Amino acid sequence: MSFKNFPMVSRVMFGRGSFNQLDEIITPKRQGREAPFIYYVDDVFKGNPWLTSRISLSYKDKIIYVPTKEEPKTSQIDQLVEDIILEFSERPSGIIGIGGGIVLDIAKAVSIMLTNEGEAKDYQGWDLVKNPAIYHVGIPTISGTGAEVSRTTILTGPDRKLGINSDYTPFDQVILDPELTKDVPKDQWFYTGMDCYVHCIESLNGSYLNSFSQSYGEKAFEICKEVFLGDNLSEEEAQDKLMMASWHGGMSIAYSQVGVAHAMSYGLGYLLGIKHGIGNCIVFDHLEEFYPDGVKLFKEMKAKHNIVLPKGICANLEEEELDIMINVALSLEPLWENAIGKNWKDIITPQKLKELYLKM
Ligand code: NAD
Ligand code: ZN
Repeated sequence: MSFKNFPMVSRVMFGRGSFNQLDEIITPKRQGREAPFIYYVDDVFKGNPWLTSRISLSYKDKIIYVPTKEEPKTSQIDQLVEDIILEFSERPSGIIGIGGGIVLDIAKAVSIMLTNEGEAKDYQGWDLVKNPAIYHVGIPTISGTGAEVSRTTILTGPDRKLGINSDYTPFDQVILDPELTKDVPKDQWFYTGMDCYVHCIESLNGSYLNSFSQSYGEKAFEICKEVFLGDNLSEEEAQDKLMMASWHGGMSIAYSQVGVAHAMSYGLGYLLGIKHGIGNCIVFDHLEEFYPDGVKLFKEMKAKHNIVLPKGICANLEEEELDIMINVALSLEPLWENAIGKNWKDIITPQKLKELYLKM
């Protein structure tokens, strides 16, 4: 057996207000006056001095506000890279992503594509990246995806939604400042938080489970229960804890895999543009037969926070559209193998997935 040798985030800072130290952290990384720091910031923070006044720009540094209505596309990454190449005479000193999973993934992908030839779509897959990325920093402003700690950046390309999984993808530096999550809207807090919960359930109930993944997954699971079902946490404690749950959930899947909800949610994302967090919730709600205890608890969390999920989203789809979703989901073989086992194809047929999608 050959074991995987994973890189991890090299440096991490945690604490409320730690965002104030960003400048001190990155200054030694500056390569010169012509080599800017590029900040990708979720456009929800545009005109928000509480956050933006703490970003100090020098020389040619630039803030680029990123809309987050849609998840990142490979063509978008290629465009962002081209913009940088055309505007600056030197490669950036660093790329800093400040936002949710979308912005973090954009920062990772741009930092890779600045040093690797070709188009982003050429690197979707496992270990296709040849050259180290530009120094990149991740600063999450919403908790749950684990994108801050993971070895992937998930992109929708012309043919598929698939990550650039590589040793060069993880951030060189992460700043975990839970205070940055204070204004996340309630529904979005739930959807993105449930991404973490689903990571735990899929990892802990998968055939790839090992003690490494289990130790992180159990911790994240415990924190999710405290945050989403407990009554004793202050708002600040809940923010701090959920940020660490996200980290642990991400670590848990690093050495295992996700499962049924993610496979089917990718299908919804690819065809209907339904975003990752809410997509996982819509799917997970119908997965009792695969994760009975996890789904029961999920329904309790949903009820406690008065979350109403959309219904009937697949009801009016044409056969060909259903087939597209089913094929995207079925192509994610490692996810099914983890969830069901080596003989997953006996159980997970196109017909089975069609029945499940039609319930959603
Ligand atoms: P997101 O980036 O889609 O953001 C969701 C919404 O929350 C946006 O409208 C954003 O503006 C808003 N928001 C974020 N921070 C806020 C704040 N502090 N205050 C107010 N509003 C705020 O959310 P997400 O769920 O974190 O990310 C989903 C993306 O992450 C998807 O593209 C998915 O593919 C990706 N993802 C990546 C990984 C990975 O390992 N790389 C893992 C899971 C998901
Ligand atoms: Zn996820």
